[in-house]
Amino acid sequence: MAGQSVAFIGLGNMGTPMTARLVAAGVAVRGFDVAEAARARFAEAGGTPASTAAEAAAGADVVITMLPNSDVVEAVVAEVLPSLKPGAIVVDMSSSEPLRTRALAERVAAGGVRLIDAPVSGGVKGATEGTLAIMVGGSDAEFAEVRELLSLLGKPTHVGAIGAGHALKAINNLMSAIHLWGSSEAMLTGIEFGLDPSLMLEVINASSGRSGSTQYKWPTFIVPETYDAGFGAALMLKDMRIATGLAHALGTPSTLSDVAVAHWTRAVADLEPGSDHTAVAKWLREHPAGLVEGD
Ligand code: NAD
Repeated sequence: MAGQSVAFIGLGNMGTPMTARLVAAGVAVRGFDVAEAARARFAEAGGTPASTAAEAAAGADVVITMLPNSDVVEAVVAEVLPSLKPGAIVVDMSSSEPLRTRALAERVAAGGVRLIDAPVSGGVKGATEGTLAIMVGGSDAEFAEVRELLSLLGKPTHVGAIGAGHALKAINNLMSAIHLWGSSEAMLTGIEFGLDPSLMLEVINASSGRSGSTQYKWPTFIVPETYDAGFGAALMLKDMRIATGLAHALGTPSTLSDVAVAHWTRAVADLEPGSDHTAVAKWLREHPAGLVEGD
């Protein structure tokens, strides 16, 4: 890693704390985001803002993308490609679509640029504390090349060839979304019965019904009614669709997952744009019938 110069594109909920960690560790980071406020936050944290993605990426050894989805990643990679130096490596840490990531890596390889996937789990908290689970898809050599840099952000694990990280990330979030929905229905039933939510969580978290939703999301964002985990509901739904799309393509079972996608689709369409994913618990409280045709 020594001396690696880094460009970081996408300074949102995750990119902001991730770049702050890199800068604090002494890494030279040039960053870009289309939102001016994001660039200003990045500059305040000690980063060097650029006025375009291509300017940020010019001459960098490593270009990290932390963007909403594959559409945006592909557009940004196409934009920066001409300014990348030969041998540069693009690390897509966004939650993108695995098959599109594979195809994108093949396209950029023609120009002498390598692209690997390294999506994360752990949310804004994990990004701030440097404890993200980082799922890396690429060759052994590529993993070795970025391992030390990624270790500043969390725990990188080499999970397979290009696209493997994105597949695993989507699968993880499909489970997480199903847990959040299921635990919310269960918690609302207990509350309606007259049980105390904090007491319920204490017992459930020492019992077999526990999940990341009961251990972290319910006590931190739902019981206090802040709904501000920093991960948008629409981004969660995007990840669920990536995972069920894979299941459909591979012919693996997705009966419960497909129903979960339908429920989340309904909630996300109904929630205020930009709502946090934890707001589905509030939505369920307000729409106890859930998915009702013509509602
Ligand atoms: P976000 O919406 O907060 O940030 C995305 C940033 O990308 C925004 O600041 C936006 O202005 C910027 N952007 C959009 N188009 C751009 C472009 N063309 N060029 C430059 N910048 C552009 O999203 P986030 O929560 O930071 O998530 C980023 C990625 O990480 C997503 O793929 C998400 O699914 C994934 N993720 C998020 C979390 C979380 O808890 N927030 C956790 C794990 C993974």
